[in-house]
Amino acid sequence: MQRPHAIHVYKFGGASVKDAGAITNLIRIVREYGRDTQLLIVVSAMGKTTNALEELFHLAHSGQEYAPQLAALRDFHLGVAAELLPHDWQNAEPNPLGSLLEQLGDRLATLTPGDYDRQYDQVVSFGELLATVIVAKALGAHWLDCRPLLRTDHTWREGRMDWPTTERNVRAAVPPLLQHGPVVTQGFLGGTASGQTTTLGREGSDFTAAIFAYCLHAEAVTIWKDVAGLLNADPKFFADTVRYPEISYQETIEMAYYGASVIHPKTIKPLAVKQIPLYVKSFLDPAAEGTRIGDCRHALLAPAFIRKTGQCLISFESKDLTFISEENLEVIFGALAQVRLKIHLMQNSAISFSVCTDFSAYRLEKLLTLLRDQFTIHYNTGLELYTIKNYDAPSIRRLTDGRELLLEQRTRQTFQFICRGSANEYIK
Ligand code: ASP
Ligand code: MG
Repeated sequence: MQRPHAIHVYKFGGASVKDAGAITNLIRIVREYGRDTQLLIVVSAMGKTTNALEELFHLAHSGQEYAPQLAALRDFHLGVAAELLPHDWQNAEPNPLGSLLEQLGDRLATLTPGDYDRQYDQVVSFGELLATVIVAKALGAHWLDCRPLLRTDHTWREGRMDWPTTERNVRAAVPPLLQHGPVVTQGFLGGTASGQTTTLGREGSDFTAAIFAYCLHAEAVTIWKDVAGLLNADPKFFADTVRYPEISYQETIEMAYYGASVIHPKTIKPLAVKQIPLYVKSFLDPAAEGTRIGDCRHALLAPAFIRKTGQCLISFESKDLTFISEENLEVIFGALAQVRLKIHLMQNSAISFSVCTDFSAYRLEKLLTLLRDQFTIHYNTGLELYTIKNYDAPSIRRLTDGRELLLEQRTRQTFQFICRGSANEYIK
């Protein structure tokens, strides 16, 4: 039995709002499963809109033609709105959708050189704004702009939360709204003290759901995905996946850390702190059981297989053939942090130190500029990083047989290796 004033947070990702039919399905789920509780609904950008905005931003920022892409994005959102919303709303002046699209056009037209990450946030954030305007209206829910509430610092593209301010803001603003019915707000976004938009990192909407749940002492969070729960591998790449019916916060954090694309890595901690359970359910099959993530003990878990594509292996050698020392490592770590390349795996030998990171031509170039004088640097791109959590001998054989491993590492629970990527790989 739910407490009558209990707050539940739902998160709907891009796939669950990818078109008018998907949004109609979302509405059905909210009406059926969310009716006995106060509901805060966090929504991502529709379908692949964030990727489209990244491309638009890149074109506009580098002075290239972007009008066709902008028109496609506009037509797509207006088309979905036309299918779902009453005619008079669409034609009303001012219309929130129309004015958002206009603001986006203005932003793109007035970008300035440099200042890439800050301007990225001001543009890419439109995906969530547009999606939530449509969903809120279609659902008859209150539209909430999360940016004045979710306070971050100025770390563009990965805003760091100012928790005390955020908690104060959310607790003051949201409960009164929830008394009147569901509230729809944006995933992925935050705002600085001076009112600029930030984003929380790609796929950050899960984290948004956890932030709201934490601040509101929510009863539970449900993430609605296109898979019925947490699986031991991504079924796009792996055959014979199994679902975990229940799994601990700890295991989930580790899987997310290694790159399982199930849940954004930052999501779990705020929930674990307040002991708020997280349900992962399928929007395609909402009655299916899904996964409950919470405080639980389990027997041995099935090995989890995690694949990260688009990796880059960078090796540093000190130029004078001295050993890699703490002083050298400090310089390397400092530079990696400065260009914001995250280390997924590292290994050192006497004269060289290697890290595996996501490949970003832009960040790698910045890194080379910083360190070239001091180190000889080699790198390989187009690599994949595989992690097996809770491995056993057969699970290692399953992944490594027939592959050339560029690097491998093993701890008690985790086996990782790097190899060359092969497109459309499917592992049986
Ligand atoms: N729309 C953002 C992204 O695609 C955030 C999210 O979906 O969680 O990365
Ligand atoms: Mg998404």
